[in-house]
Amino acid sequence: MTIAEQYKKFRAEVDEVCRNCGRDPRDVMVVAVSKTVGEEAIIQASQAGSFDFGENRPDDLLEKHQALPQARWHFIGNIQSRRISDIVPKSFLIHSVYKVDHLSKIDAAAKDAGKIQNILLEINSGEESKGGVAPDMSFGVLSAARRLPNIRLCGLMTMAPQGDPDAARSCFAQLRELRDEIQSMGIVDDMYFNELSMGMSEDWREAIEEGATIIRVGRAVFSSDFE
Ligand SMILES: *Cc1c(COP(=O)(O)O)cnc(C)c1O
Repeated sequence: MTIAEQYKKFRAEVDEVCRNCGRDPRDVMVVAVSKTVGEEAIIQASQAGSFDFGENRPDDLLEKHQALPQARWHFIGNIQSRRISDIVPKSFLIHSVYKVDHLSKIDAAAKDAGKIQNILLEINSGEESKGGVAPDMSFGVLSAARRLPNIRLCGLMTMAPQGDPDAARSCFAQLRELRDEIQSMGIVDDMYFNELSMGMSEDWREAIEEGATIIRVGRAVFSSDFE
């Protein structure tokens, strides 16, 4: 299968999973995580209808953004302070924000770039090796973000433990409940704070069934031997 065929087949599967659980396929965005592939593969996926791409390293983001500036680029990787001014101008949405001291830097970089930066708050689902803020610490970060005029808080992101579909499902359900709780507390702007970025190649079905609005998928789109 070509990348184009693989992307189309994947998107069709996503649509089917949505319909089977009573969701509108238009409510689930697929971010094609292109961190392991080159520009040629990205262009093929783009021609097949992929509009959103995700990268986890600033240098790759800059290079690939230049190759396909008309796509929407998502930053999904670890954020280093000194790279924020590189990441912000190229990112439609930054998924992996969780440090309070990064917020004012993102705000300043967005102001310089003449944009409002869309961000998600990354929630740590219990694995110390991963990034993210603990759920009960999220309220403070959100309140800090809310005061910054060049940041738009769009929702939450998490990474589930791999290799256990039931554990992944419960992690996704918890993220949805946290979003609902935050919405009901009135500490965010309800109009924007709706997104749940959750689900990767191994667990995107569970994520959609639990309410994901954005799935981040690498291997299932770009790797020929993923099943
Ligand atoms: C690599 C990566 C993905 C995609 O992983 P796959 O298992 O290849 O689908 C999603 N989210 C983040 C944060 C990643 O780093």
